[in-house]
Amino acid sequence: MLKIRNLVAGYGKLKVLKQISMHVKAGEIVTIIGANGAGKTTLLTTVAGLIRAASGDIEFRDQPITSLPAQKIPALGCVMVPEGRQVFAPLSVEENLILGGHVLRREGRQALTEQLAHQYELFPILKQRRSQYAGTLSGGEQQMLAMARALMSRPSLIMMDEPSTGLAPLIVQEIFRVIVRLREEGKTVLLVEQNAKAALGIADRGYVLETGKVILQGSAQDLLANRDVQRAYLGRE
Ligand code: ATP
Repeated sequence: MLKIRNLVAGYGKLKVLKQISMHVKAGEIVTIIGANGAGKTTLLTTVAGLIRAASGDIEFRDQPITSLPAQKIPALGCVMVPEGRQVFAPLSVEENLILGGHVLRREGRQALTEQLAHQYELFPILKQRRSQYAGTLSGGEQQMLAMARALMSRPSLIMMDEPSTGLAPLIVQEIFRVIVRLREEGKTVLLVEQNAKAALGIADRGYVLETGKVILQGSAQDLLANRDVQRAYLGRE
């Protein structure tokens, strides 16, 4: 689904990603864990086309996307839910969702209505809040809206940047439950998380990033059992 080879990227002269290689297979949940500043957000942003790679390549469904403009990538089926729940505060929940479904325009009203219904089924709270301004939602509801808006375009790969940040444990559970459900529906998820324990708890595989390099990779089970991972990211000695 996604192949990243020897990716180098950053901000001007600062190279944050130093020869990153990784892949995500169809139907997997893959998590990227690592300390603050390791380059996790930079990696997702580069795949999404918002930062240009200095070298290396990115393929999505066997198509090179390294040099594609960011606005072309969602239509291929690759979307990102950025950190910090960037919903359109002055618009209603439903207007936010409709905006997320703009790539369905060509298919007509029916496709849009079906997707709306599907998102309301995944996130019942959003149905209750459909007419409410997005800016008045709680943090957890805004995170759900950001996810639902990204899902409106029926992506095959959804990349999520720290969806659990700042949320109460029960809400985090709810969000992770939806991520697992997405995999059951055949979607592929690339999940960046500070909450390594929760992320590895649902993921199939994981990568550990440190200062722009992959220092460890493996099945989620192996990473959970790994002493170094436990010490550095799971708060266990
Ligand atoms: P966090 O969990 O804090 O988001 P991260 O692993 O996602 O961490 P990045 O946000 O990718 O890390 O940041 C990696 C490095 O790039 C950091 O040293 C950061 O200061 C730098 N950086 C991030 N965004 C920019 C920017 N817009 N301009 C310049 N440097 C940046």
